[in-house]
Amino acid sequence: MVLAGQNPASEVYVRNKLKTVSAAGCRAELFRIDAGAALEDALALVRRLNADDEIDGILVQSPLPEGMGADAEQRVFDTIDPVKDVDGFHPINVGLLVQKRQSLVACTPLGCIELIEREGISLRGQRAVVIGRSDIVGKPMSLLLLHRDATVTICHSRTENLAAVARTADVLVAAIGRPAFVTRDYVKPGATVIDVGINTLTDRADVERCFAEGSRKRAQFAEKGSVLVGDVHPDVEEVAGALTPVPGGVGPLTIAMVLRNTVTAAELRKDRGRPL
Ligand code: NAP
Repeated sequence: MVLAGQNPASEVYVRNKLKTVSAAGCRAELFRIDAGAALEDALALVRRLNADDEIDGILVQSPLPEGMGADAEQRVFDTIDPVKDVDGFHPINVGLLVQKRQSLVACTPLGCIELIEREGISLRGQRAVVIGRSDIVGKPMSLLLLHRDATVTICHSRTENLAAVARTADVLVAAIGRPAFVTRDYVKPGATVIDVGINTLTDRADVERCFAEGSRKRAQFAEKGSVLVGDVHPDVEEVAGALTPVPGGVGPLTIAMVLRNTVTAAELRKDRGRPL
């Protein structure tokens, strides 16, 4: 794992990943880069890890420090050996995913699929709506659903009549980054709703705007001064057939998929003859 700078949220993510990965019996190492380091330092470290035969998987925590430039993340991810790219962000892995060939796939969408399949929820022929079209969640999520024979609609900030489109979904995935954005009127009764969003509210006015008096989220805020909320309003549980909680839903599955990808990467590297 590569961590550049001292972003507090990144410190927490990396610490959790290190703990989980070590507990599962993998050797996990953290490589730190100074906040003021140049992009070339990050690229040199990635090249060193690419060449290290002891290392099966490389994770570079984003965001990278602003000083590294606007295209730093892309350049760093492009430099990771595709066979060690356990985040699944390398364009070769994305291309393989598009073609439904074996590849390392982004961990969060992979975790969502795992959740859906382990619940025994069928995707074949079902209408799936994904809100969000980012490279790390929305796009790969849409492809994974498509490859499981769902009929997929991808929505974004320019989608018209978003609630009406969302209401057509048998499976609705929210990956937006807006607290409690998806309300009951977005959800067809009985639909499966996957909440990818992780938003921390620290402002009382925001909490009061999103959540009613007496609600769990208001109580959590009163206790801690901050509260973790998804992109889906918790009231959606009254209309959905199934709803993933935040925290405790997609997040832990994402980390589990980092582990799975690491094992896949180790196996793939043992057999470089395979198409990757
Ligand atoms: P992102 O790169 O900011 O993408 C957000 C997407 O939502 C964009 O495609 C954007 O549309 C769309 N969007 C924004 N406002 C919208 C609106 N009002 N109506 C419709 N669409 C709208 O975010 P991301 O990286 O995909 O992450 C999304 C959320 O998932 C965040 O809360 C993030 O923290 C969370 N996340 C969780 C995990 C996990 O492990 N659980 C992992 C990754 C991310 P445009 O393309 O038109 O701008």
